[in-house]
Amino acid sequence: MTVSLRLTTDEPCGTCQGTGAKAGTSPRLCPTCDGQGQVLRSGGGFALPEPCRECRGRGMVVDDPCPTCSGSGRARAARPVTARIPPGVSDGARIRLKGKGAPGEFGGPPGDLFIVVHVGADPVFARSGDHVTVTVPVTFPEAALGADVPVPLPRGGRVTLKIPAGTANGRTFRVRGRGAARRDGTTGDLLVTVEVVVPRSLPDVAREALAGYATALAEPDPRASLIATAEARPGIGRTAPA
Ligand SMILES: [Zn+2]
Ligand SMILES: [Zn+2]
Repeated sequence: MTVSLRLTTDEPCGTCQGTGAKAGTSPRLCPTCDGQGQVLRSGGGFALPEPCRECRGRGMVVDDPCPTCSGSGRARAARPVTARIPPGVSDGARIRLKGKGAPGEFGGPPGDLFIVVHVGADPVFARSGDHVTVTVPVTFPEAALGADVPVPLPRGGRVTLKIPAGTANGRTFRVRGRGAARRDGTTGDLLVTVEVVVPRSLPDVAREALAGYATALAEPDPRASLIATAEARPGIGRTAPA
């Protein structure tokens, strides 16, 4: 994917071509450091170099500053930059654009531009390493009877997921090769977690059908084991039902 960015950087001032000097004048060598940009400061028997204060390390001084840039030689400018984001890039990755950074001092080569990638939250899909996760709602009949469920894909389109009869809520299915692209050209998987949805309200005919289902099921109490285990723990007496 290619993204377009607007980059605000220091560019050479257009009025003075980056010299910082007013039109018709030019900067002169700094007399303090003789154009070196640094001076030797003696202390304790040693002579240590430090940036020249007169010219702030630039080696040149400007007598008549350029009115546009106040003598700095630089101007803020916004310029468009395009960057190719490789597929499957991870959050925090740095992409280096050679020579697209700030211009060098006094006509030196420009530096590199680093783009730090922040992978934003997607309203539907999430990342788990090279895999992409998605939660898909299914109805209770679909989970109980089995169904062909359409599942959206991260890069558009759908895939049909066949869920078997008796699928438990929260079960995760793997759709191979439909996740995030890896560096080596292979692709991770799409991990589909089904979530059984319970309707907030039911039309009468559905309510009656469900009541009939409960009667027909004749299932043993699904909580019998849980309650028996809880009450069999040491020090827990059987309490009267509330
Ligand atoms: Zn100087
Ligand atoms: Zn200027």
